[in-house]
Amino acid sequence: MERLKDKVAIVTGGALGIGKAAVTRMAEEGAAVAIFDCKDTEGEALAVDLVERGLKAHYWHCDVGFEASVQSATGSVKGHFGRIDVLVNNAGIAGANKPTHELTEQEWDEVQRVNVKGVFFCTKHVIPYLKTAGKGSIINLSSIYGLVSAPDIPPYHASKGAVRLMTKTDALIYAPDQIRVNSIHPGFIWTPLVEEHLKTTGADPEEARKATAALHPIGHMGEPDDIAWAIVYLASDESKFVTGSELVVDGGYTAH
Ligand code: NAP
Repeated sequence: MERLKDKVAIVTGGALGIGKAAVTRMAEEGAAVAIFDCKDTEGEALAVDLVERGLKAHYWHCDVGFEASVQSATGSVKGHFGRIDVLVNNAGIAGANKPTHELTEQEWDEVQRVNVKGVFFCTKHVIPYLKTAGKGSIINLSSIYGLVSAPDIPPYHASKGAVRLMTKTDALIYAPDQIRVNSIHPGFIWTPLVEEHLKTTGADPEEARKATAALHPIGHMGEPDDIAWAIVYLASDESKFVTGSELVVDGGYTAH
């Protein structure tokens, strides 16, 4: 399949979890994929694996929460692959799991630095390349936690709510440039992020996993590919009339 033939895509947080699945599916669909992450060993290994399979990928160390890091890595992608067509703002952290009155300013700020400023910095530095390309697609990973609430991780809820509305604002600003901006709202997907988050609840890991799965009417958590295919769709021209939308992929979690 070549749903993304001739496109160059950046995937932030692409070394693990949802990002890794997105990198893999996008490369298999013909894209040249730039993997941005801080997990250098995993990111390099993924790029090598894809290149050995005859696919196009390259790894860059990039902390999305530092503007200089984003600016430098983005410029290198243009130099390496020649153009940029797609940005997947996937890098994110769950952060401290405490009630609001126990959180420190530093714990609050770290989640906003990665989850909100990271989306801002990457969008800011990729937009000029998308304008040069004459069109583009930006895909922002929000969450079910950006749509509905739960009594945990307050900074994360705030960050994902922000990403939801940043998406719609940028969709309106850049529609005249044929740059589409959409958000994806996953339910719980079994990744290192969720595994670590469930540990912070203090519950027995297997019980916590079963209880989390039961929150989804479909009866189980999702897997990274469930989100990767949504990303492939929004990155491709199949979604050319879709912008400012919220693609919910949650096993029915928010259907109540
Ligand atoms: P993950 O398994 O933790 O993978 C995220 C990747 O992003 C990791 O490699 C991580 O590296 C990297 N990363 C973290 N901070 C970064 C930074 N400042 N700069 C560059 N890379 C950074 O997470 P995931 O579960 O795949 O989640 C991916 C996205 O989907 C996140 O935005 C998350 O909020 C969202 N989401 C996930 C779920 C879910 O259930 N998994 C549900 C809804 C939304 P480190 O490990 O070194 O931090």
